[in-house]
Amino acid sequence: MSQVKAYGAEANDADLKQLDIKRREILPNDIHIEIDYCGVCHSDIHQVRNDWKNSKYPVIPGHEIIGHVVAVGKEVTKFKEGQKVGVGCMVDSCQNCEACDEGLEQYCENGMTATYNSPDKHLGGHTFGGYSEEVVVDEKFVLNVSEKLDIKAVAPLLCAGITTWSPLKQWNVQKGDKVGVVGLGGLGHMGIKFAHALGAHVVMITTSPNKSEDAERLGADEVLVSKNDEDMKKHANSFDFILNTVPVGHDVNPYLNLLKRDKTMCLVGAIEPLKGVNGGALIVKRKRLAGSLIGGIQETQDMLDFCGEHNIVSDVEMIDMQNINTAFERIVSSDVKYRFVIDMQSLKN
Ligand code: NAP
Ligand code: ZN
Repeated sequence: MSQVKAYGAEANDADLKQLDIKRREILPNDIHIEIDYCGVCHSDIHQVRNDWKNSKYPVIPGHEIIGHVVAVGKEVTKFKEGQKVGVGCMVDSCQNCEACDEGLEQYCENGMTATYNSPDKHLGGHTFGGYSEEVVVDEKFVLNVSEKLDIKAVAPLLCAGITTWSPLKQWNVQKGDKVGVVGLGGLGHMGIKFAHALGAHVVMITTSPNKSEDAERLGADEVLVSKNDEDMKKHANSFDFILNTVPVGHDVNPYLNLLKRDKTMCLVGAIEPLKGVNGGALIVKRKRLAGSLIGGIQETQDMLDFCGEHNIVSDVEMIDMQNINTAFERIVSSDVKYRFVIDMQSLKN
């Protein structure tokens, strides 16, 4: 076991501060990673603040991890020392259920092990995430990253990337489809980039008119301000797919009105009760409201490979670990362009 520096919160109303945590000795299939960068996801804030009522303290967040391999277990074949690698939202699953067999580890019937805040099968207690110097992970849950991309801007692909990629693929977004992305934050900006790369006609649906120019630069063909009822009416019944990244329970009915008959809106943000969904909005045009959780390991690798081929990375603002509490406040007030990434070197200072 080794002791490493980390940043975390000891209570739901506490700021994050430096703490010491333990990492396990490497097992035969483990990769020991020194963390270089870690993205800051809105989920990190939900977990620190116990919004989902399941947090265990201390919470050491972070599931958009980029690092380099410092040691490998004796049975590891896929990775070698010095290599740049990624770790996303999961570090283990049962490997033995229908979901795992289908490469859908995120839906593991026996419960996947999330990178932080899941029971730790090795050390007891719960898992600790990437706001730390080092992590030890089974090689099955370690991803290859393209070394030709700007590696710090690859970090957010490990969560924001796969969470938006997976539903776009699942609902088979095609060239020419009219696709709406609701919420221009970390997930939303990747949603725009991917939908654009897949050839869709992309409409950014936002509460912030001042993000319009950025939305277009990121690949949106149109911007729809959701607070403008007239414009919302003009787009009624016209979308083939909507990806909704709004981070809180909200009124989904205005967005459902935008879908064509038989089309789907997929939620990835609001992991909590929604305001009253109007059954009529679904029934009269056979519309669908769905959800999606991150993506499987193979799918994550496919997404990373696609990004390598198409030169896709996140738009990031680099921060030092010591500035994390301010970054959290800015994310909550929708003031992030478009993902904070922590330079882990700062934790050594
Ligand atoms: P983020 O960077 O804060 O972006 C969310 C955006 O949603 C905001 O920038 C804002 O965009 C819009 N928004 C915020 N509050 C809103 C409201 N009340 N009504 C309408 N729009 C609102 O967050 P993120 O990191 O992208 O994460 C988004 C959500 O996805 C979080 O809840 C996170 O926990 C969740 N998540 C889920 C998964 C999954 O597997 N399903 C994975 C990762 C994250 P505009 O200014 O453009 O309106
Ligand atoms: Zn995340």
